[in-house]
Amino acid sequence: MKTLYLSNDQQDIARAAEILRNGGIVAIPTETVYGLAGNALRGDCVKKIFDAKGRPSDNPLIVHISDISQWAPLVKSIPESAMALAEKYWPGPLTVILPKSDIIPKEICGKLDTVAVRMPSDETARAIIDTCSFPLAAPSANTSGKPSPTTASHVRADLDGRVDAIVDGGECSVGIESTVISLADEVPRLLRPGGITPEMLTEVLGEIVIDDAVYNKLADGAVAASPGMKYKHYSPDAEVVIIKSSFEQYKKYIDENGTSDDVALCFEEEVSDLSIKCITYGKKDDPSSQAKHIFDALRQVDKAKAKTVFARFPEKEGIGLAVFNRLVRAAAFNIIEL
Ligand code: AMP
Ligand code: MG
Repeated sequence: MKTLYLSNDQQDIARAAEILRNGGIVAIPTETVYGLAGNALRGDCVKKIFDAKGRPSDNPLIVHISDISQWAPLVKSIPESAMALAEKYWPGPLTVILPKSDIIPKEICGKLDTVAVRMPSDETARAIIDTCSFPLAAPSANTSGKPSPTTASHVRADLDGRVDAIVDGGECSVGIESTVISLADEVPRLLRPGGITPEMLTEVLGEIVIDDAVYNKLADGAVAASPGMKYKHYSPDAEVVIIKSSFEQYKKYIDENGTSDDVALCFEEEVSDLSIKCITYGKKDDPSSQAKHIFDALRQVDKAKAKTVFARFPEKEGIGLAVFNRLVRAAAFNIIEL
């Protein structure tokens, strides 16, 4: 198919909504990453999304709404704790999982009896959902397994000719996918860290459990609470190794082991001190800037045709936990501690 390239002006938003109303799939900007959207209430549209991405069918999609009134029809009921979270953090980078209602097509959540819902804050995403007046299923708009897209050109690189349209809304402001919390069981469970930090969740919910898959590789044969966690993710073609050490030790390690085929994935302030090609992911003490740049940096690594990538270890505080979670998957849990 020929992919249509759209801006985010009013006329193009109307065209994007028209394509979605006609059952098409459109990549749209959100504040987290670009999403590949389709009508969440139509199984045939949802299936097109899985096909375009090459996404395994048991990895469920997040449903995006633009008004709180769109939530209740999608779920069995909305407990007080869920509403309190929505009041505090929506619109924003938080996805809430609850038992699903019968209008959710089975294609969205595979064999699960729950559905993940989020209200994005990005104005373009909201305008498109408003204009459609139905909720949009939208996973990240990348080829499955590749780094998530944070610009329209990232989407183009992966999905040109595979989607009906791509709406360009500029660079995503958060740059990392939403926080995913499940309220489907007794104790709230954090399944994926993101822009809404564990501290921010605890403020509203009290105790939460952080799923083991946030930090660790899923054991062979274990069942993932969030199916997405079991798949290889965010991975450039190069071998990524995370070096857990001081900057001095990192520099020494690179001086001794780095070659002209390798890349240092480091912080902006460190470039002038390193002896091999550097690709940066944000500033040293600024996890928000690291989140904003990590996926673009992982794509640049591929462009540079690096053999091995030596990555700096991010601080796990605040949104830094989300940066760590993505980077450790890109590295297939390969960490060298010096
Ligand atoms: P993406 O849309 O590409 O950011 O991926 C969505 C993530 O949310 C994946 O890791 C999914 O496994 C997870 N997810 C979506 N719906 C559910 C659900 N009902 N239960 C558990 N995890 C979910
Ligand atoms: Mg994704």
